[in-house]
Amino acid sequence: MSSTLAATLRFPAATPPAVGSPIEIAPGILWLRLALPFQLNHVNIYLIEDGDGWAILDTGINDARTRVWWETLLAGPLAERRPTRLICTHFHPDHVGLAGWLIEKCGLELVMSRTEYLGTQFHRRWAEPEEIEAHTRFYTACGLDEHAIGALMERDIGYRWLTTDVPPSYHRIAAGDTLTIGGRRFEVLTGGGHSYELVMLYCRAENLFLAADQVLAKISPNVSVWPHEPTGDPLGEYLRSLAALAQAIPHDAFVLPAHNLPFYGLHDRIAELSRHHDQRCQDILDACAGEPVLPAEIVPLLFPRKLDAHQTSFAFGEALAHINYMRRLGWMTAEPGEDGRLRVRPA
Ligand SMILES: [Zn+2]
Repeated sequence: MSSTLAATLRFPAATPPAVGSPIEIAPGILWLRLALPFQLNHVNIYLIEDGDGWAILDTGINDARTRVWWETLLAGPLAERRPTRLICTHFHPDHVGLAGWLIEKCGLELVMSRTEYLGTQFHRRWAEPEEIEAHTRFYTACGLDEHAIGALMERDIGYRWLTTDVPPSYHRIAAGDTLTIGGRRFEVLTGGGHSYELVMLYCRAENLFLAADQVLAKISPNVSVWPHEPTGDPLGEYLRSLAALAQAIPHDAFVLPAHNLPFYGLHDRIAELSRHHDQRCQDILDACAGEPVLPAEIVPLLFPRKLDAHQTSFAFGEALAHINYMRRLGWMTAEPGEDGRLRVRPA
């Protein structure tokens, strides 16, 4: 994820709640922060009044610290209302990490979209030796060095440790569904690009939009090509999702995102995120206007500061997402060089 800043957004709560201490951000909706041991150092969890209990939206990662926060919350601030169900917006560890643990502890139903549920299981069994071999071949062909490939493999294999097993069955929700939580009716929306079928919830009566990671106030959500979908177009999916959101959700909705602060100014932020990606595309076209280059060679052109292996691996996924998007639009072409490695250039 990279940082961009919207000048026109409005933040009703200037500072986030302390880690582990929920505050009421809208009537009957608690906003909770949990810390993450990554560069992105927090995730927002929401608790939505659900009859005599709380529906929980997302979980944080599976680590000892996060389990202690949940135990403290369940015994303390949340003790008067029981958890009713767990809705996980997408398969990333900061959102679904403790699902299996929380569900077992509290006897909850898991609510997810189908691709995110199956994606959790798929990524938990990564990576078998033949997958590691195939993915390494792909990354090598794109020009990544062994350190960056190592970091990517670490991320992929690490998923298993940052998550718990999801239960063998779940309640599926899909775009177009209505989900009733307590007295509220939420429209279910889904979007691709950052994840597969990321779930967002919109309460039209109160103009409240639970956006998960799809629209964040300060960060441009990571949009990366995965090695099992090397020709995939997550950026195209993401940009189409942003356009659909601008149609479906009013500009003056109160946006409750999974990272950064809740905000007003949805359409401005959507426009800004789209512009950011347009600019990235233009930067890539400018940067490789000469000789055809390996996809990995585009990373230092886009990110001139020195990146460590981890940052390189993420930056590479983003760069490739822009390349694949432009290949589909006919703005770039790719051909294998004499060494069999893929080289790209503007069309
Ligand atoms: Zn996230």
